[in-house]
Amino acid sequence: MNAPEYREWTVADSASLYGVNDWGVGYFGLSNKGEMAVLVPRKEQPVSISLLDIIAGLEQRGHAMPVLLRIENLLDDRIRSLNQCFAEAIKNQHYRGEYRGVFPIKVNQQCHVVEEIAKFGGQYHHGLEAGSKAELIIAMSHLRDREACIICNGYKDAEFVELGLHARKLGLKCFFVIETPSELGIILEQSRRLGVEPLIGVRVKLAAKVEGHWFEDSGDRSLFGLSITQLVDVVDKLRDEGMLHCLQLMHYHIGSQIPNIRNIRDGVQEACRYYVDLVKEGAPLGYLDLGGGLAVDYTGAQTNETHSKNYSLEEYCVDIVETISEAMDSYEVPHPTIITESGRATVAYSSVLLFNILDVSYFKSNGLPDALPDECAESLTNLWATLQVLGEDNVQECCNDAVHYREEMRRMFRQGQVQLRELALAENLYLEVLQRTRLLLPRLRRIPPELQNLDEALADIYYGNFSLFQSLPDAWAIDQIFPVMPIHRLDEEPLNKAVIADLTCDSDGKLDLFANADGETRTLPLHDLKEGEEYYLGVFLVGAYQETLGDLHNLFGDTHVVSVRIDGDGGFEFVEEIQGDTIGDVLSYVEYNPKELYEQFRVSAEAAVKSGSISVKERQNMLRTFGNSLNGYTYFERD
Ligand SMILES: *Cc1c(COP(=O)(O)O)cnc(C)c1O
Repeated sequence: MNAPEYREWTVADSASLYGVNDWGVGYFGLSNKGEMAVLVPRKEQPVSISLLDIIAGLEQRGHAMPVLLRIENLLDDRIRSLNQCFAEAIKNQHYRGEYRGVFPIKVNQQCHVVEEIAKFGGQYHHGLEAGSKAELIIAMSHLRDREACIICNGYKDAEFVELGLHARKLGLKCFFVIETPSELGIILEQSRRLGVEPLIGVRVKLAAKVEGHWFEDSGDRSLFGLSITQLVDVVDKLRDEGMLHCLQLMHYHIGSQIPNIRNIRDGVQEACRYYVDLVKEGAPLGYLDLGGGLAVDYTGAQTNETHSKNYSLEEYCVDIVETISEAMDSYEVPHPTIITESGRATVAYSSVLLFNILDVSYFKSNGLPDALPDECAESLTNLWATLQVLGEDNVQECCNDAVHYREEMRRMFRQGQVQLRELALAENLYLEVLQRTRLLLPRLRRIPPELQNLDEALADIYYGNFSLFQSLPDAWAIDQIFPVMPIHRLDEEPLNKAVIADLTCDSDGKLDLFANADGETRTLPLHDLKEGEEYYLGVFLVGAYQETLGDLHNLFGDTHVVSVRIDGDGGFEFVEEIQGDTIGDVLSYVEYNPKELYEQFRVSAEAAVKSGSISVKERQNMLRTFGNSLNGYTYFERD
C-alpha cells in the first residue's frame, strides 16, 4: 500500500470536517484566512464578517468571554424566509387563504429578541404566541398590528382571560385556545362580564404520532388538548350559549423538532378532518393553527434523526399548503388562514455562544527518556520493550501487554516496591503505546473491538470558559447536539481529539457528543493551544430555548449578551450590550445580601487588625478585592 500523498490542510478541509456548509445553511462559512464568518444574505452576494473581528470589538468594549452573540440580521432573515416560503407555496398552488406566523414567546423571551420579531415581522403581520399571563403581557405590549395574531395557549385563569379580552377590545386579534373543558366556562363568564366577544380556538389532540425527542406530545396520551368527546362537548356548550360563531380557530401541536416530514404531513391531514367536521358542525373557523415542530438541522445530516430533519423549509411550506388545499377542496370547505408557531426554526440560528479555552489536559506522554534508568522494575522494562516492537501486525497484543504491565507497576507502587518517578515513567510509556496505536488504527484492515473507542479514551480535555448548565442546558438535559468548532486557525489541521469540560465542578458539565459526517461522535478535532494566544470556540444554533432554561449551577450567572447588526458594506454595530450577572447578582438570587456579606467580611478583617494579625493596609487590600469580586463577572477572567 502506498502512503497517502502529503497535502496541505486547507480551509475547505476544515469546512467539511466541521460540516459548516451542512448545518450553517448559508449563514456561516469560512474565510480564506481560516476564520469563521457570519454571512448575511443579500440579493447579489452575502456580506461576510469574521467572528474574530466581532470578538476583537467586544474585547475593546470591555466584554470578556464568554459572550452570547446575537446576530439580528439572521433573525430577520429567518422571519423573512418563513413568510416568503409560505407566500410562494400559496401563490404557486393557488391557495385561497393567507399565512400568518406567530412566534411562541417561550422559545426565547428576551426583550430584545421579541422586540425585533415584532418590529421586523410587522411587514408580514407576524404575531406572537403566549403560554402564560407573563407572556401575554409581553405580547399585548409589543403588538399593535391588528392583522397579526396573538394566540393564547396554556392554562388560563380569569385574570389571563381578562387580559386577553382587553387586548380584544383594543382591536387585537387575540385568540383563546381552549386546552381543557374547564376553561370555556371562565372565558364565557369573563366575556359576559366585560361585554367583549372572545375569539375562541380549540386545541385538538391528534392520534398522529411523531418521532424524535418530543414524541410524548403526540398521540392519545399527549398532555395537552381536548379529546374527541371533550371537543364535541365544547361545541355543544358554545352552541347552547349562542356563541358558536366565536369558534374561529383550530389548533394542534404535535411536538417540537419533528425530524420527519411524513409526520408533519400526517398531522396536517388528520387535523384537516377535524377542521372540516367542525365547520360542518356550524363553527365558522377560518384559522388553522398547526403549532410548532419545524425542525432545525443541528447536525446538518439531512436525515430523520432526532437532531436533524429530512426536509427543507420550502418542502415544509409546500407540503402543508398542498395537504390543506386538497383536503378542503375535497370537502368543499373554504381555505383557512394557515398559522404556524415556529419557535426553534425562527430563533436558533441567530445566537452563538463564544468562549475561550483556558487550559488543556492532554492524554499524551509528556516526553520519554532515551533509555531506561539502570536497575528498574521488570514490568517497566517490559513496557519499554512493548513500545519498541509495536507495529501494524501486533497492535492488539501490544495494547494488552501495556495494560498488564502498567497494572503491575501500579500494584507494586501500592506495595512500596516502586517509587513515584518510576510509576510516572510507566504511565508515560503506557500513554505512548496507546497514542501510537491510535495512529496505526486507520491502516488496519479490521479494528479490534476493544480498540474501537480509543479516540474517546484518549481524548484531550479542553477546559472552556462557560457553564453548560447556564448556557447550553439542553446539551446536559436531553443530549442535544449543537455544532461546536474553533472560530479561527481553520487553515491549520486540528490534530487533537477532544472533549470540552466547562467551569462547573460537575462531571456532567461537558460537551462530549458532536456531529460529524458519519453521524454522532464522542470527540471533536481541535488544535494545540499556542502560548500567549487565545483559542476561541463557538457553539452555534443556540438561540432557541437555551437562555431561560439555563440555571445557576455553581453560581455561574448569565453571560454578557451582545447583539450585532451587520450593514450592507461589511461594517457592524453593537446595537445592544447587556452586562452578564455579577457575583453580587447571583448571590442575591439565592437570597444573600451582598452588602451584608461585605459587612460581615469587614468585621472579620477589622477584628484581625485589632488582634494584630494583619495590618490596616492589608485589611484595605482584602476589602478591595472582596468588593471588586462582588461587582465582577462570575466567569474566569484573564488579568
Ligand atoms: C413549544 C411550542 C411551540 C414551539 O415549537 P417549536 O418546535 O420550537 O417551533 C409552538 N406551539 C406550542 C403550543 C408549543 O408548546
